[in-house]
Amino acid sequence: MSDYSFEDFDKFKVRYGVEGEIVNETPIRIGSGGRQEFGSVDNPVITLPIGGRERPVIPGSSWKGVMRSEAERFVNSSPEIGKERGWEFWRACDIFEVTSNPDIRREEEKNPCIVCRIFGNTGVASHVHFFDSLPKGDAPLQVIRRVAIDRITAGQSPGRLFDVQIVPPKTRWDFRMRIINIEMKPEDPRGFLLSYLFKQLLDGIQIGGGKSIGYGLMVLIPDTVKVKKMKIEGGKLRTEEYTGPEALKALGVG
Ligand SMILES: [Zn+2]
Repeated sequence: MSDYSFEDFDKFKVRYGVEGEIVNETPIRIGSGGRQEFGSVDNPVITLPIGGRERPVIPGSSWKGVMRSEAERFVNSSPEIGKERGWEFWRACDIFEVTSNPDIRREEEKNPCIVCRIFGNTGVASHVHFFDSLPKGDAPLQVIRRVAIDRITAGQSPGRLFDVQIVPPKTRWDFRMRIINIEMKPEDPRGFLLSYLFKQLLDGIQIGGGKSIGYGLMVLIPDTVKVKKMKIEGGKLRTEEYTGPEALKALGVG
């Protein structure tokens, strides 16, 4: 069994707690979708009654879905990385095929792709956990009115207006996740891929509805990032804490 095995939950080796603040540079459109196991990529931002009023929430499952899609896109567009480094599982399965096709499911549970080795599948435990994101402080929701666009002619349908609920730009959210039993080192394909995802988060990742008009651009604020790494070394638990540029370095970025 290689060091990059996915069947390693009998033994705690290393854990990273990552937290920071994320800001939406553009409005985020609120969807009405509920929670889904693999994250609802189309409708990832919902409202929940918290403290007696409706507050926007980005469920952890949404983060997971968005990050998983980002990982799939990168792996599918870079087969040469797997070839150069001899990572034969540097490929991305279609998770919906895995859940619906028993043959593909058996194969993916026996020999998972790199994305499943991080995010899990029907038979493989996830090595990452994302927490719900809530806005810091007061984040009033806004309603804006938009003109419906005819999907077939791409022209405006006269008089057809609809209301969209949004979170205004420049709202700060907390972001928290855990990485379990993956060393954030470029020699480990999983660490390599996760570092790529953190780089993307620092550059901006789009979530929610209205992507085509630039909505939902989320950017992780570098100097807010904190990393707590816990590792078993020589039978002892060692804890390391990083902030600022050191935290980014611990995640393989910067
Ligand atoms: Zn897979």
